[in-house]
Amino acid sequence: MSLRRKTFIVILCTVICLNAMVYLASRVTLLSGFMDVERQDVEVNVQRLANSLTDDNKALGQVTNSLAFWDDTYTFIEDNNEKYIEDNLYDEIFAEYRTNLQVFVNIKGEVVYSKAVDIAKMEDIAVPAGFSRYLGADSPLLAKNETDRVQYDGVILVDDRPMMVSSRGILTSRLEGPVHGTLICGRFIDDAKIKQLSDATKLHVTAYTPNNSALDKHVLQQLEAIQDGFPLAMNILNEDQVEAFTVIDDYEGKPALILKVDFARKIYAQGQSGLQTFTLLLGIADLVFVVVSLFLLSWTVLKPLTRLSSDVSHIRTSGNLADRVIVHGRDELAALGQSINQMMNGLQQSHTMVIESEARYRTLFENTHDLIQYLDAQGKFVYVNQAWHDATGYQPSDLATLSMEALLRPADVEVYRTLIQDLKNNKTPFAPELHLLTKQGREIIVTADFVVQMRDGKFYATVGLLHDITARIEAESRIQDQNRSLRETNLDLAEARRVAEENARLKSQFLSTMSHELRTPLNAVIGYSEIMLEGMSGEMNDEQTDNIKRIHINALHLLTLINDVLDLSKIEAGRLVVVPLPFLINDLMDEVMYQTNVLIGAKPIQMRYTLDPKLPREVLADYGRLKQIIINLLSNATKFTDRGEIRLDVAKVDTDKWSITVTDTGIGIPSHALEYIFEEFRQVDGSEQRRYGGTGLGLAIVKRLVLLMNGTIRVTSKVGEGSTFIVTLPLVVETVEVQS
Ligand code: ADP
Repeated sequence: MSLRRKTFIVILCTVICLNAMVYLASRVTLLSGFMDVERQDVEVNVQRLANSLTDDNKALGQVTNSLAFWDDTYTFIEDNNEKYIEDNLYDEIFAEYRTNLQVFVNIKGEVVYSKAVDIAKMEDIAVPAGFSRYLGADSPLLAKNETDRVQYDGVILVDDRPMMVSSRGILTSRLEGPVHGTLICGRFIDDAKIKQLSDATKLHVTAYTPNNSALDKHVLQQLEAIQDGFPLAMNILNEDQVEAFTVIDDYEGKPALILKVDFARKIYAQGQSGLQTFTLLLGIADLVFVVVSLFLLSWTVLKPLTRLSSDVSHIRTSGNLADRVIVHGRDELAALGQSINQMMNGLQQSHTMVIESEARYRTLFENTHDLIQYLDAQGKFVYVNQAWHDATGYQPSDLATLSMEALLRPADVEVYRTLIQDLKNNKTPFAPELHLLTKQGREIIVTADFVVQMRDGKFYATVGLLHDITARIEAESRIQDQNRSLRETNLDLAEARRVAEENARLKSQFLSTMSHELRTPLNAVIGYSEIMLEGMSGEMNDEQTDNIKRIHINALHLLTLINDVLDLSKIEAGRLVVVPLPFLINDLMDEVMYQTNVLIGAKPIQMRYTLDPKLPREVLADYGRLKQIIINLLSNATKFTDRGEIRLDVAKVDTDKWSITVTDTGIGIPSHALEYIFEEFRQVDGSEQRRYGGTGLGLAIVKRLVLLMNGTIRVTSKVGEGSTFIVTLPLVVETVEVQS
């Protein structure tokens, strides 16, 4: 059922219920109001009827007054003169005064005169016998003594006929006493009187006599009702008629006259008609209300709601979470629309997050090198990642018929079953190593982590993360092999090292022994050749002298070579030490300059020496080894310089360093050779250099000695222009303990 129809039904039902209540309430209220008004109207009219009767009674009282307070009557009651009777008590006067009865009673209670007239027929009638009961000594109608100015107006029953009576004490015309008696005037309330009352009050009046044995039962009931309470009994006879009863009591309080008034129910009829009009108007108002309400509801609520609903269903069918409902205005529906849009924002965000998360997990899932598998409760593969396919060789089409146990080598099937059972029983899982058989029959080893998924307490699926450790296991095995071989090699190397060290020791020992053994005869050769050259062993011809010179030079060269080899071997064996001692720099420099000058011979070379005045005169260093270094450098300079200048510059570098620089203008050293001239037995290649001879050990020894002194050596050179060797040393050289 559509919302519009439901709303219509709801409004209709609401309106019907409301109106039913309004109608009933109105009907009850109005009808009871109408009844009240009707009753009040009846009361007013009945009261009017009673008043009219009272007015008649008063009129009768006036007539009685005029007769009772009159000197003639005052006299007549005493003397009962005939004249008074003739003049005043004839039939016409009864008709004029509209009385049926006049009774004159003296103060003694004796009826002086009484007369009754049927004024309709204008004939005398007998005084009703029943009236005598009102003439007794206790009758309130009679004056009891001369001061009793009795005055009574009311209705009494006379022979079961209601009669309006007035009684007055008889006084003079000046209303003076003493009271001589009582005049009672009476008038029957007969049909004529009732008709007169009806005409006067415009009411439909019926009179009933209370003591009438033929009195209607209904009237009797009304009489009882009246006597019980309010002097009015009202009966609604039907939709059109209502009757009201009232009773007029005598002086004893006994009913003397019952009056019934019939009313047409005009007020009620008007009320009914008004109610019908009201109902009709209410119906029209309802109709208008329903139509207007529906229109307003449709315009303000249903239409926007329908639009909202269609927007939402459009989003649902399109599945596009970026769509939004259109929001108009600022009412609750607009707020609902905004809430829906906010919900859509949230949905879109969480959808995006889910997609991103899914993409992230898929990326992880597909790009991880580990094998991921998802098996259902029956152990069937539901999905696996690419790494799983790559490792096992099984294709997606193989999964339908494949089981995990079929993948395992037979020895691991039980392990797997136990693992899954333990997981189902919530036991602490372990990650076993499993051997899988690939489609190609190869065996791969994996460490396996499994998670069991339960849903509603039932085993649902198994997720497995398998890490292929085949390569690692193989690599470990290879490393173990290599370690074994390395251990063997180490043992070999240790043996080789021990042999090498032994060889080095033997070599060093051999060299020192050899150099000692060689230097002794060589010194003899040098010494004897020098003796011969000095002519101490006799005169020699030129050829002999020349030969001995050659012997001398070669012996010296051999001695230098042996000394160099010995020094080098000592350094290598760690047995050469520097011994710092204080000495004067100038002394050392003078000595080396002197010794080197000899080497220049006839070459056109200038030797120069400078000493930095900032240097202390005395320094601490190994004098002999320092001299060896400088002489070696100066020797090379003189050897590789044919002309020009050789300089020795000694300077202070900073507070704790000093330098010794040897500069020449010789042949220079090619740049490529600068890298290796400090290595043993290395000389600059080329015939030019070869010409100068040498062993190639000098600079190697110099460098090692400088390093032993914690110094540095560097060289700059340009071929054809010369070379510069700079030795930098600490200003104070630490003493190194001498080893033998
Ligand atoms: P030797 O001089 O005995 O050959 P060195 O070790 O003293 O051995 O020198 C190595 C080489 O360095 C020399 O052969 C020479 O070629 C080169 N050399 C050393 N000093 C100089 C220099 N002052 N001028 C040119 N070349 C030099």
